[in-house]
Amino acid sequence: MRLLFQTSDEDDFFGGFRDFFDSGTWFVIRNLLLFLVVVFWLATAYWVFKDARRRIEDRWLVAVATLLGLVPPFLGAVIYMLFRPPEYLDDVRERALEIKEMEERLGGRDLRCPVCRAEVDASFLVCPVCTTKLKQACAGCKAPLDPLWQICPYCETPIETPASMELGDSWGATAPPRRERRRR
Ligand SMILES: [Zn+2]
Ligand SMILES: [Zn+2]
Repeated sequence: MRLLFQTSDEDDFFGGFRDFFDSGTWFVIRNLLLFLVVVFWLATAYWVFKDARRRIEDRWLVAVATLLGLVPPFLGAVIYMLFRPPEYLDDVRERALEIKEMEERLGGRDLRCPVCRAEVDASFLVCPVCTTKLKQACAGCKAPLDPLWQICPYCETPIETPASMELGDSWGATAPPRRERRRR
């Protein structure tokens, strides 16, 4: 009796399922789900297209990436994410510009007066705008000298900067007495 009751209950249950799948409600829900899946599929493909356009310069490669985003559905987008270029084109261009600027600065092509920021040439001895002294002239050939140079590279005249003269004086003043003390 109990068993019979159960089976009839199960029959009702599955019968209800069958009725449900045969009904118009299931038809509507299935179509709605299919529609959502298709929308999501197209959205992922569109996302791949947008992302590829920001990362890849070549138009054909962008087209290939978009195609991959469409076929196979969903999996193609994941594959694209694994192999896409790591950087955006804008970032790459910006960095290239920064490097170029840095190189120009290091190359001395963008020299400026430390006082008035006017553009000056590497060969200037004074700033033509504010008359600040920029470089020392060689005593032999009058060439503009770099502050780090010890000798003029154009005429081989040794450079006597105020710093080196001070150093020489202090050596001359302090070194001999020490030697005398040691000898005693
Ligand atoms: Zn100046
Ligand atoms: Zn010189």
